[in-house]
Amino acid sequence: PQRPDTAVSEARIAGVTVDTRHWIGGRRVASADTFPDLSPIDGGTLARIARGGPDEAGAAVAAAKAAFPGWAATPPAERARVLHAIADGVEERLEELAIVETTDNGALLRSHRRGVIPRAARNFRFFADWLLSLGHEDFTTHTDGHTNPGHTNHISWDPAGPCVLITPWNAPLMLATWKVAPALAAGNSVVLKPAEWSPLTASLLADIAAGAGLPPGVLNVVQGHGSEIGDGLTSHPDVRRISFTGSVPTARRIAASAARNLTPLSLELGGKSPLLVFADADLELAAELAVEQFDNAGQVCLAATRLLVEESVAEEFTDRFVGKAARLTQGDPREEATDIGPTIHPRQIERVDGFVRRAIAAGARVVLGGGSHTRRGGLYYRPTLLTDVARDSEIVQEEVFGPVLTLQTFADEAEAVHLANDTRYGLAATVATGDHRRAERVTARLVAGTVWVNCFFVRDLRAPFGGSRLSGVGREGGTWSFDFYCDLKNRVTAG
Ligand code: NAD
Repeated sequence: PQRPDTAVSEARIAGVTVDTRHWIGGRRVASADTFPDLSPIDGGTLARIARGGPDEAGAAVAAAKAAFPGWAATPPAERARVLHAIADGVEERLEELAIVETTDNGALLRSHRRGVIPRAARNFRFFADWLLSLGHEDFTTHTDGHTNPGHTNHISWDPAGPCVLITPWNAPLMLATWKVAPALAAGNSVVLKPAEWSPLTASLLADIAAGAGLPPGVLNVVQGHGSEIGDGLTSHPDVRRISFTGSVPTARRIAASAARNLTPLSLELGGKSPLLVFADADLELAAELAVEQFDNAGQVCLAATRLLVEESVAEEFTDRFVGKAARLTQGDPREEATDIGPTIHPRQIERVDGFVRRAIAAGARVVLGGGSHTRRGGLYYRPTLLTDVARDSEIVQEEVFGPVLTLQTFADEAEAVHLANDTRYGLAATVATGDHRRAERVTARLVAGTVWVNCFFVRDLRAPFGGSRLSGVGREGGTWSFDFYCDLKNRVTAG
């Protein structure tokens, strides 16, 4: 049901025009139908977005397949040059990207300006540079002298083919570029499917990439509901890699769909990460780390939503935490003074409140928050802390994805580690302690892809990122991204 691309659909946000059609093979393509994109700031409709389905999925994969050989054959230095040019484009349009992203997903404008959008540019620069260092490192080994003397192994990272990249709404451009950049650096073509609740910056990224000289069809962006366009992408036999960031239920559907062609998958999923606060910790720092978990209204996969605090300091920690949290300003995410913005969507806030209501009904005590502000369309959920929660209760076990933390106490280190690992997830963990030996013991026993000690959210793009257990499959970052987005080849030569 594709119509000629004369049926213009676009959003205009703070002077920025965003084309809300698909971007396929270097041209804008409309769909027969559209769906509304709401702003979480006031609940108003921002734009109507092209509503893609199986036809658009097929067209985008075909475009990616056609463009793949040319891009794969482009020398790494030239690919790196184009990626740096995309980074330049992101930096040049930083203000525009920041305001569009904030209007679309409700996260703080100041964070977008200073951290998140610059990081999107950095993702391109980082993988461009890493690509060149990979090339130089082509490693040559000699086989075991007893069996095959004189043979040489030459290992290369070959482009894999068209990649499908599916991303969530909580950090749209940053998470998209975390996949697009290494996939393109590796010599692959890409079909990017952003989340339907925050589709706009992906469309701007297509414009930026085209302006930077990326050939048509190397990056395609399709819009639509996952339930309508997803399967056409993930079950397509011409797709060589699927990288997905999102929730566990969706990951299960994608894995089932990918199973038809045994398409390799990278899955970065949800979490229920702990923050362990030992009595020997700097409690001021620990309280600050805990308050940080309300960033992006708690809509952060890595958020340490389970506060685990040593009994002897629980009261003092709670007082400090509540004192700091009470000073947070909640409101319009475009305002500099705002610390916490809205929740992305009416459905999400209902979901968050449902978790809190059921926890209270099950006996939880509300220390802080516990409901939404009624003003501004009701999308502003108060930062919430619940205590008196049972280990196996829903609120302790399930990912809420809102500004809701629970507090449990522990008697000793063994119980702390037991509680921390008492989850089906394993994305991250944070430990606050003043004792280095304790930090070593505890971090060695925690099941998590990333463990922070006396800090939170510190990222080095060379390091592996991903989750254990239900938090994901595989790791991305540095060489791990190239391992995923490439077919590794070993050429063995005699003599
Ligand atoms: P979601 O799973 O609902 O949607 C993610 C994406 O999948 C969207 O683009 C959606 O359209 C698409 N999708 C839905 N059904 C599909 C299908 N059948 N086939 C193909 N695609 C489909 O997740 P969300 O609500 O957008 O994001 C929140 C979740 O993402 C949370 O669980 C959060 O923890 C997780 N997350 C994880 C990380 C990480 O790096 N580990 C980062 C951010 C968010």
